[in-house]
Amino acid sequence: MSEAAEVKGRLRLRLFPRAETAVRGGHPWVFADSIKSQNREGKTGELAVIYDKRDRFFAVGMYEAESPIRVRILHCGKPADIGREWWQQKARECLEKRQGDVLKEGTDGARMINGESEGFPGLVADKYADTLVVKVYAAGWLVRWEEIEAVLREVFSPRYLVLRMSRNIVNFAEGLGLEEGFRGELGDEIVVFSENEIRFESAVLKGQKTGFFLDQRDNRARVELLAKGREVLNVFSFSGGFSLYAARGGAKSVTDLDISGHALESAGRNFSLNAHDERISGVKRRAVQADAFAWLEESGEKFDLIVVDPPSLAKREAEKEGALRAYGRLNSRAVAMLNEGGILLAASCSAHVSEEEFFRLVEEAAECSGRRWKELWRSGHAADHPANFREARYLKALCIEFN
Ligand code: SAH
Repeated sequence: MSEAAEVKGRLRLRLFPRAETAVRGGHPWVFADSIKSQNREGKTGELAVIYDKRDRFFAVGMYEAESPIRVRILHCGKPADIGREWWQQKARECLEKRQGDVLKEGTDGARMINGESEGFPGLVADKYADTLVVKVYAAGWLVRWEEIEAVLREVFSPRYLVLRMSRNIVNFAEGLGLEEGFRGELGDEIVVFSENEIRFESAVLKGQKTGFFLDQRDNRARVELLAKGREVLNVFSFSGGFSLYAARGGAKSVTDLDISGHALESAGRNFSLNAHDERISGVKRRAVQADAFAWLEESGEKFDLIVVDPPSLAKREAEKEGALRAYGRLNSRAVAMLNEGGILLAASCSAHVSEEEFFRLVEEAAECSGRRWKELWRSGHAADHPANFREARYLKALCIEFN
């Protein structure tokens, strides 16, 4: 905020010391109970200026009157003007980071904006070919939606733009006359895009997340390199992402296992979309619709490479213990189903389960098998999913080879 913009009536806050320190250290959330005082009640979407204990400006954020995360920090440091030019600059930085690295020939799907870690707290934007899907988790964005939409269109030049939002802000949006769906020109509900020259569909209006799990791209590519000659089981396969890469990598067979018929149908269509690739059309493929927990206990089958990438098993801190047990059980079963020389790729997308906890329990599953094993690699967030604070780091994967 420039001094000139320091208008009377601006919402001003002071924080308790611990929260002040956390914000200075780069943490982007201020919880309601961290606010020591404020000059008046705030309105969702307005800018809140945060002063330190010596009464100097030190941060500015977006206020959320109804959320336990009461302020999402936009900027910490010297006063700055937060307006259209600010957003343009931030969005351009996001685009530049992806050009040539993530977005390249053969890849026109990627996350373009990853929330807090890229200056847009509570907002992600995923690009699938000509369609930009913007998912909003913080009501404040809806208050300034016209401006933000204009900036995103200008910077990312999508032909179609879809607005999606988390359940808890749908009512607020309605009050502003905003709803989920295409903005402006209507595009297809199912968009076909490419990732490393493999074509996939994304259900941009109704699908999980923004329609596809872009976050696993690098792990899928790693699986391609390991799949040659192997019988592959893709547990929690969703639309078959890992299986298509495994097939292209020369897998002998791929088995997609998911509880959802829609997910398996989508996987089938993804295989058809890539029928021009003989390794993909030529692979022996099977779809199993079942509860993964039960099927892994009962099937008695053996494989050479098993990917276990479940949905988040701990959506809340309270679910963490149960999630740890579930990860342990799933991965122990998967290890028992591996042939000699088999490979396990165990992934977790639960932010409440830390990397250390997850890696330890997968290692325990390996140790308890009594077999010799070695780690091939471990991974975290891909370049288009940067995560610069603890709560944002949800994805981790460990790949192990057994004798
Ligand atoms: N690995 C996928 C993403 C997995 S998303 C990818 O890379 O694209 C989680 C998937 O787990 C969803 O498709 C969901 O239908 C499925 N799922 C959820 N609970 C399940 C269960 N108990 N058994 C089998 N599949 C389940």
